[in-house]
Amino acid sequence: MDDLFKPLGLTQLAQALPTLLDEARQQQLSYEAFLRQALDTEVKGRQQRALERRLRAARLPAHTRLEAFDFSFQPSVSERLVRELAGLAFVQTATNVVLLGPPGVGKTHLASALARRAVEAGHTALFVTLRQFAESIEIAGVTAWRQQARRYVQPRVLVLDEVGYTRLTPAQAQCMFDLVTARYERSAIVLTSNVSFAEWGSLLGDEVLATAVLDRLLHHAEVLNINGRSYRMKDRMGADARQMTT
Ligand code: ADP
Ligand code: MG
Repeated sequence: MDDLFKPLGLTQLAQALPTLLDEARQQQLSYEAFLRQALDTEVKGRQQRALERRLRAARLPAHTRLEAFDFSFQPSVSERLVRELAGLAFVQTATNVVLLGPPGVGKTHLASALARRAVEAGHTALFVTLRQFAESIEIAGVTAWRQQARRYVQPRVLVLDEVGYTRLTPAQAQCMFDLVTARYERSAIVLTSNVSFAEWGSLLGDEVLATAVLDRLLHHAEVLNINGRSYRMKDRMGADARQMTT
């Protein structure tokens, strides 16, 4: 039947057919039940492949699922708010999510876990650090970069990670402003930063531009201030504490 599957693009069904036929014979399925199962196999297979494609395109860091986040370790993170965000209304309303806090408190983990939820729900996403963003402008040159800027504008959810470690050149800062403006009230940005908003002026090398970026970014936004211990230092601190008590 390959001659029929191919023009119809029924690749999933083609693969599964021998098994499906065996099962249908064993269970003596009706014609209707068999057809339904065959089509269902094709639809589910396509959905799975589309999900895998979106996940690859999103470039999310591995091992960052919401289920793996230990809320009891980080009491300053509102579990209620994160669960609400995981319901993905923020994607529909193009509400930004800004995660602030020192290194190791789980900003990247949470940002990426939210983006993963969005991808699993059928949305597109892209994870990028500010350094990667800046480098992409550096490598392409501003003019060429502007033509590929869609790459950062189109995904329904854009994670902009590690804002604060990289100072931007004037051209890069302008591109960031353009990006935030292009996404403003259209699609959500999930941003993480280890610096306060007051420092964005020196980060972008321009106070006026920084104010304009923050104005758009924070107009519709949930801001999570995380001020707990570093999870990376968890075991180390535990060991130190034990040592000190013995
Ligand atoms: P940040 O981006 O704030 O510097 P990360 O999100 O990269 O921190 O977290 C550092 C490491 O610790 C990651 O491997 C992350 O998965 C893990 N981690 C951080 N917080 C938690 C937590 N509350 N529960 C489970 N793992 C966590
Ligand atoms: Mg991080």
